[in-house]
Amino acid sequence: MPTTEKITWYPVSDRLPDDEMTVLLWHPEMDEPVWLGYHLDGGWFAADSFPLPDGTVLYWAEMLAGPEKTSTCNCRADIEEMLLARFIEQSPEATEHKASLTGYGFLFSGTGLEMKGCMPFETTAKFPLKKGGVKAKTQKQSMMFNYCPFCGEKYPDQKKTG
Ligand SMILES: [Zn+2]
Repeated sequence: MPTTEKITWYPVSDRLPDDEMTVLLWHPEMDEPVWLGYHLDGGWFAADSFPLPDGTVLYWAEMLAGPEKTSTCNCRADIEEMLLARFIEQSPEATEHKASLTGYGFLFSGTGLEMKGCMPFETTAKFPLKKGGVKAKTQKQSMMFNYCPFCGEKYPDQKKTG
């Protein structure tokens, strides 16, 4: 079954990948403008270590995950970016704006620690006390989503232990 994968191209003037991390790069002067490469000590190199002339790489993107990718979608980062932009627009007089979606938790998956969306919930009941009477107890917990609530992509399966 064909699958699709989203690519986010970052202008090199905005941000750069970590040194020596293999990424997709876009250098439009070349016959094949999309190539594999990495950034190191201020310069760009093709994946085979061939140095690329300064100023020719204009955009880069994170390496593709492949048709059976295990990494999760980018919705959280995308939405936080959008919320932050709106917040800055609404409060231009303020500084050091931050916006984050709080309904996320860490979960072990086949590939390691993954961030998954979750729905917080509360349980409340009246528990009997030894000395008689009852006391209401409320517990806060979270229920993990199996699918991203924004794009519907399935999160990686939880690691089976034992
Ligand atoms: Zn998503």
